[in-house]
Amino acid sequence: MTHKTDSGRRRFLAAASGAGLLLGFPMVARATFLGTTPRDLAMDHTHTREKIDLTYAVGRRYVPQALDDLDHFLRDHYSGLVGNMDPGLYDIMHSVRMALKARTPYQIISGYRAPHTNERLRTTRGGGVAKRSLHMDGKAVDLRIPGVPLKELRDAALELGAGGVGYYPGSDFVHVDTGRVRSWSG
Ligand SMILES: [Zn+2]
Repeated sequence: MTHKTDSGRRRFLAAASGAGLLLGFPMVARATFLGTTPRDLAMDHTHTREKIDLTYAVGRRYVPQALDDLDHFLRDHYSGLVGNMDPGLYDIMHSVRMALKARTPYQIISGYRAPHTNERLRTTRGGGVAKRSLHMDGKAVDLRIPGVPLKELRDAALELGAGGVGYYPGSDFVHVDTGRVRSWSG
């Protein structure tokens, strides 16, 4: 799995970009991140049927073991390849969940995608899959929260203004990424 060889450096860069991401966050969220409050995430994967529930960060520090576990949880379920997810994604997910006061875990439809998988999805599904998808960089996740209307989930992500937000009502998920702030409907 050559995808993991550069993980130390990637992790440092990801943490650095995560710090930059904070600037785009509302005052309340930023205060939380700078304190010592643990940040948790709970997710169910719709394809692998795996569940995860952990503390991924405390204040400004990400928990290395948690990031490894999350990389594995959000692996490309088609090929089994494990990518390096951008922890900034977890901060977006955490903040959205807090804003919505949601109690149920996220349902994950797609996290990391190996290039080969992305290409295959592109040829079989056409329009919905970008040629240069941020899923391939570990910077995107497709999700929903059971019990939360998809529009509310989308609006909470938009309000955060922390990255890209794609709305896919036909497939019942919202795409969030740590790329530049933009939005679209699929
Ligand atoms: Zn996506």
